[in-house]
Amino acid sequence: MRSQNYLIIGAGFSGAVIAEQLSKNIDCSITVLDERNHIGGNCHTERDGATGIMVHTYGPHIFNTDNKEVWDYINRFGNFKNYTHRVKAIYQDKVYTLPINLHTINQFFGKNFTPAEAEAFIASRVVKIAEPANFEEQAMTMIGADLYKAFMYGYTKKQWGCEPKELPASIIKRLPLRFNYNDSYYHGQFFGIPEEGYSAIIEKMLTHDNIEIRLNTRFNSAFDTGAYDHIFYTGPIDAYFDYCYGRLGYRTVTFDRNEAEGDFQGASQINYCDEDVSHTRVVEYKHFTPWEEHDQTVYFKEYSKETGDDDVPYYPKRLTADMDKLSLYQAQVAQLDKVTFLGRLATYRYMDMHHVIAEALQLAAKFIEKHK
Ligand code: UDP
Repeated sequence: MRSQNYLIIGAGFSGAVIAEQLSKNIDCSITVLDERNHIGGNCHTERDGATGIMVHTYGPHIFNTDNKEVWDYINRFGNFKNYTHRVKAIYQDKVYTLPINLHTINQFFGKNFTPAEAEAFIASRVVKIAEPANFEEQAMTMIGADLYKAFMYGYTKKQWGCEPKELPASIIKRLPLRFNYNDSYYHGQFFGIPEEGYSAIIEKMLTHDNIEIRLNTRFNSAFDTGAYDHIFYTGPIDAYFDYCYGRLGYRTVTFDRNEAEGDFQGASQINYCDEDVSHTRVVEYKHFTPWEEHDQTVYFKEYSKETGDDDVPYYPKRLTADMDKLSLYQAQVAQLDKVTFLGRLATYRYMDMHHVIAEALQLAAKFIEKHK
């Protein structure tokens, strides 16, 4: 078979895994396009110009997974330092621990419950719903009305721009509920932060003589794809089809950057759960790299808003109207035989880095099996 030509649209984790795997296993030339002036997609990291602190340009990314294959794979491209994500929440001027654990329950209700007492107490307050159909119902069956109203309702309304009743139940299932004092935000077995950031990892994945990266290059329907044997598309699915069925709903995030001396808030992330506080959270990046020393600090207030035509899409809303449109786009995808859609934007799902990498690895393995 002659050498193959592949086009990959998007230099985030999805595109980078495909490029890395195909370049090493198939005789091919690969072109990777990205409309931005950097690789890494929304996982992009760079050192802050003024303070030298490693900043996650598009919001905090903490690697966590139970998938050993993914963990071993990602560790080939960079050194991960031990980092446990611990988050605080402010509600009505008081500070609590998140995710909701025994400490949060005791703080909130002014008790000193044991784990068994707390579990029985929460069980007596939850609303029993056999099959929770949305975020709110799921929250009511998990934690009951008081904790839901304090920690979830206002934050979620700000974050997603709609009533939590309209959102899928799956969103809240991301967060653990614990009846002990474990305050790690995640429950994955393997976790950490890459010492030199995510962009350095993605750069290493994309380093191969047969991979050409073209930044500042936007893909659209006018782009000539005639020379390519296969295309891997990781951009928004609706953009690929020129939004012919309308735009899918996404939330975007804007960041208000601030500098200070020393330590601003004492934690990497504090969530603001009151509905009338306009930002959702404050992220202070020096706490993600406790092995580094910085006298200055830089922190970002995050604001969520509906994605306008020129904004970066972040969170797929997946409301009923979106899912109807998505089916129409997916029917179009099914008719394309040399284009593969993968990743968060191209499949319109709220995926974490480890999900994205696992799916891209599986997809690459199948493709290689067929084409090598
Ligand atoms: N959430 C909430 N209150 C919080 C933190 C999270 O209600 O203090 C809800 C909110 O709907 C959010 C979802 O849980 O979108 C998932 O939270 P996570 O921290 O995983 O969001 P991400 O870091 O991906 O923005």
